[in-house]
Amino acid sequence: MENSYEFLSLVLDSITEHIVAIDETGDIQFVNKSWLAFGNKNACLIGENWSGVNYITECEKASALGDEFASHAVTGILSVIHKRKNSFYLEYPCHSPDEKRWFMMRVSPFRTHGRNYFVISHQNITERKLAEEEVEKLASLDGLTQIANRRAFDDFLKEEWLRCFRLKKTICLAILDLDHFKLLNDDYGHQYGDQCLIKVAELLKEFTKRPSDICARYGGEEFVLVWGNLSIEQASRLLQKLLKKIQDLKISNKNSPVNQYLTASIGLAVMLPNIENDEFLLTNNADKMLYKAKRAGRNRFES
Ligand code: GH3
Ligand code: MG
Ligand code: MG
Repeated sequence: MENSYEFLSLVLDSITEHIVAIDETGDIQFVNKSWLAFGNKNACLIGENWSGVNYITECEKASALGDEFASHAVTGILSVIHKRKNSFYLEYPCHSPDEKRWFMMRVSPFRTHGRNYFVISHQNITERKLAEEEVEKLASLDGLTQIANRRAFDDFLKEEWLRCFRLKKTICLAILDLDHFKLLNDDYGHQYGDQCLIKVAELLKEFTKRPSDICARYGGEEFVLVWGNLSIEQASRLLQKLLKKIQDLKISNKNSPVNQYLTASIGLAVMLPNIENDEFLLTNNADKMLYKAKRAGRNRFES
């Protein structure tokens, strides 16, 4: 019984992975039930009429339409067929209009009756991918304020710097430090302080809405804002508005020598990226300006 064709087909048909076997030219020799079911549900894929279809040609067609994973798949399958690799493995997105999906494709060879064949299996790995996405999201957020953390900010700044370099556009970086925050904590308690940090972060989000913008918690009571492709005049106007909005939050800081309500000091640096400078210089300059704003009496920005 175990050796019968029927028995082995049933085994393959009860596997949830989508399985297809091809010969050395890429012609499909066998598909299992999961493959058929998936193909029939997703009109773009080969379904019932798989006989006589060449798998590699189908991938090449998808690749020509701009599917970069199909192009990787072709390269991988050919590398196994031509014995440059023993097996091939690829994780790829395959989102449907109403759900996010990822699959893992594996290619492995076998030989029978003097000919080489290749099994290509596709396994749904969506659950794992969604969990990974969630972990990545959590790892890039500041736990208290739920805006980007320092790590995510560093990554973003590096990318945005390069983008502005290519576009020959200026990039603005502002470092914001809350004034006399220690006094606020001392007078109202750490928990009150935490709530203030959350409120300020909420406000910063409103000022960084374009894809080329970010606001992040830099550490403690310091925040950073980046605006790609923005002039110093535009950034200055935004910061003037931001300083006013922070004061308008009317967060009590009764012992602050600056104002009865919480205020902030900001250092702004604007640069046109070129090969002689880098994003660290931008950060350094903003930091110097912040120091200047503090010395000049706080509740202001310097650029
Ligand atoms: P300055 O105007 O010179 O910036 O004065 P400051 O008091 O804000 O500066 P300092 O650096 O002396 O104090 C920063 C304070 O921020 C001290 C620290 O307890 C507080 N702080 C840092 N992180 C947090 C936090 O996560 N929650 C709360 N509640 N307070 C924090
Ligand atoms: Mg500080
Ligand atoms: Mg401070």
